[in-house]
Amino acid sequence: MEKITRRKFISVSLGGAAAGAFVLSGKAQGAGNFTGYPEGMGVLVDLTRCIGCRTCEAACNREQGLPEPALPFDDTSVFDQEFHGGQKRRTDENAFTVVNRYDQAEGGPVYRKIQCNHCNEPACLTSCFVNAYTKTKEGAVIYNSKVCVGCRMCMTACPFRIPAYAYSSATNPVIRKCIFCYDTRLKYGKPPACIDACPQGVLTFGHRKNLVKIAHERIRANSDLYVDYVYGEDEVGGTAWMYLSGVPFEEVDFDVTMQKKPILNNAQDFLSQVPMVLAIWPALFLGFHRLSTRGEEDGDENSNLSNREESQS
Ligand code: SF4
Ligand code: SF4
Ligand code: SF4
Repeated sequence: MEKITRRKFISVSLGGAAAGAFVLSGKAQGAGNFTGYPEGMGVLVDLTRCIGCRTCEAACNREQGLPEPALPFDDTSVFDQEFHGGQKRRTDENAFTVVNRYDQAEGGPVYRKIQCNHCNEPACLTSCFVNAYTKTKEGAVIYNSKVCVGCRMCMTACPFRIPAYAYSSATNPVIRKCIFCYDTRLKYGKPPACIDACPQGVLTFGHRKNLVKIAHERIRANSDLYVDYVYGEDEVGGTAWMYLSGVPFEEVDFDVTMQKKPILNNAQDFLSQVPMVLAIWPALFLGFHRLSTRGEEDGDENSNLSNREESQS
């Protein structure tokens, strides 16, 4: 797929601005001052331990009061499902986490759990002009549906393509995603439901800064088992959910081309040079998002919004 060029980015951004320029919120303008929460919690996901039982999916469904899925959680035929050009399952308004299977030429399959990564400096938050998102001191990125106007800018801004639009709610369209079990667990110091439920110890809950150390120690002690990389330690400024893998991350659909600095920095660099474009912030995020990723979605808006497992994490 064609890489987006700077010329094309400016064209996309300004085109979006012309269609819908609006006044910036104070939060969006001041978002560059946010430096993250050093004591925030996180999760280390060890792909080498996952057996694809989907117990975590069932636990999330119960905890979040989501509708029962069409196929039961013990039905492994979901791993054979493919969507839009062979992409695997992804999260949606009724499934805040999903597990996918990746068959390997040698050895058994690798399973990968997907949910919001609760970025240190979330692009969803900084792109939202009505301040619907909050990064809590505990590390969760939560969302206030009462102020959402359904513009879906956060869906475009998220580098992992996580926020899902509740198309089924015609009268009150809102964004839905994993909230780190904030309301029921995290704010009381308890681990999320999916973590409590996992029978394999795939998911380690703790302070993010400690998890980074644990991840590197685990790699050091088992260099034959793990790829020497902690995905999420640095991607887009760091994420609360981080990953260890025994196979190259690109083989299980992690975007290994993801930039290391927060996506907000792209906007700051650009805005410092061209301050008059402050009024077109939302349109800029569309362009910066496409520059930060592989640009594979360029040209097919529907596939962006419907099945986007390829670049998720
Ligand atoms: S993964 Fe996406 S939705 Fe989740 S915090 Fe990061 S930018 Fe926001
Ligand atoms: S942290 Fe909570 S909301 Fe997020 S996937 Fe796990 S159970 Fe679901
Ligand atoms: S519950 Fe644990 S082992 Fe089972 S699919 Fe989820 S992460 Fe993997």
